[in-house]
Amino acid sequence: MLKVLLCASEVAPVIKIGGLGDVVGSLPKALEAVGVDADVVVPFFPTAKIENFHMYKSRTLRVMYDAMSHEVEVWATKLPASNVDLYLLKNDLFFGTGGKEAFLNTPNETQIFAFFDKCVCELVKSRFNTYDVVHCNDWHTGLVPHLLSDELGASRPASIMTIHNISYQGTGAPSVITDVGLTATAHKSLEWDISDGDLNLLMQGIMSADFINTVSPSYADELIAQTDSSQISQVLTARKDRFLGILNGLDYRAFPREFSVTDWQQKKQIIKTELEDELGMFGDKDRPIFSMISRLDPNQKGLDILSEVVPDIVGLGGDFVLLGSGDKTWEAKFTELADKLNRKHGRKAVSVSLLFDAGLANRIYQGSDFFLIPSKFEPCGLTQMIAMWYGAVPVARAVGGLKDTIKQGRTGFLFEDYSGQALLASIQKCFNIYKSPAHSAIVEECLKQDFSFDKSAKLYKELYEKAVQIRKDAYGTVHF
Ligand code: ADP
Repeated sequence: MLKVLLCASEVAPVIKIGGLGDVVGSLPKALEAVGVDADVVVPFFPTAKIENFHMYKSRTLRVMYDAMSHEVEVWATKLPASNVDLYLLKNDLFFGTGGKEAFLNTPNETQIFAFFDKCVCELVKSRFNTYDVVHCNDWHTGLVPHLLSDELGASRPASIMTIHNISYQGTGAPSVITDVGLTATAHKSLEWDISDGDLNLLMQGIMSADFINTVSPSYADELIAQTDSSQISQVLTARKDRFLGILNGLDYRAFPREFSVTDWQQKKQIIKTELEDELGMFGDKDRPIFSMISRLDPNQKGLDILSEVVPDIVGLGGDFVLLGSGDKTWEAKFTELADKLNRKHGRKAVSVSLLFDAGLANRIYQGSDFFLIPSKFEPCGLTQMIAMWYGAVPVARAVGGLKDTIKQGRTGFLFEDYSGQALLASIQKCFNIYKSPAHSAIVEECLKQDFSFDKSAKLYKELYEKAVQIRKDAYGTVHF
């Protein structure tokens, strides 16, 4: 049986900051179902929610970093409702902070994750190098393939690098290379990378993994079509025969639903009323709720075009609910916008909750009529899939995974231009169909969609087998 180690910065439900955590928490379970033995390793950040887990200290590693030996405790448990082994690496110096918010990509963080990469390599060695594949995720794990090559040579596992979001690349000082025990002159890719003065961890992962993938076919096409002259673009283009897109999926067990395709009308209305009460919105049945749940990232999530249309949503007789946190300027802007509109209309038409709250998120998904995702780019996106599952019709920009999962006019509304005007035109369509048979038909089609990870897990299995073959072609042996 193929044995795989997934390494990442987060894994739901233990450490969840964004969609990456969801994916790392659900993919291994789906892999298990298709006959892949998957383990997961993440740093043991203080934010880890471990109350409901039985944990035990499995071993202690000695990890060399910056010419010093560090002790790292390996705590073991299982992912919920599965046989997937989860390893949490404990070291107070490196992992004593972090895990609280989306990573800021500061030099300090680069060191934290360079150290993590070194720990992953030591863990692989301490488990008698029994993994066939090490599956790296995002820049946090970018040095793992190099380290495996250097430390295990021909007996190393194959490596995969998954790009969940290319806008976070993890740049740091070239000194990190020697800190982890690599030598720049031994790897042309390292020498080339640091010629501009810094080290790019994601690019290292892309250059040195046996195979690379990203999280939707359309995002893969978009990345290859990018014509900028950045080093990372050149690298991806050069490796495009080793690069593909595999859509993320959902673990529906994490999203209990209180209604089905036959009784959603009444039940969703009850939940909507409860949500309005909870948020103090005193809603009205004839008023649609548009919502958005997101990291407040102005570079990605379309906050500028969203803020342009919120007054129109209210002006047209709708309510708007935002749950999100992140960029402080945008947190303040949305709070001000809500105050202004609520005063103007003499009712609470806009609710803004600046927190990360999975329970409230769930109630918003279930109680909303429409769900907005006006992203500038979206590698895959999970919120549209969750929204569909709860019968909140997605309105999204036709990019990346949004384009791959939403069927225009059948399970939602897609718009092309990145503009408030284009977003508003789609929102207008929502008002036109609200409470009509056409609306019910779309909701019912949404409720029937299946984005479970099963299909994608099979594709990952094929990818792992391909990577093992590539490694074998390079070194001559396969050991599973
Ligand atoms: P990204 O990975 O770019 O943050 P995704 O759409 O892939 O975006 O995944 C976001 C995940 O995080 C979803 O499960 C979404 O419900 C959740 N989420 C985002 N913001 C919040 C919040 N403020 N409170 C609760 N859940 C949130």
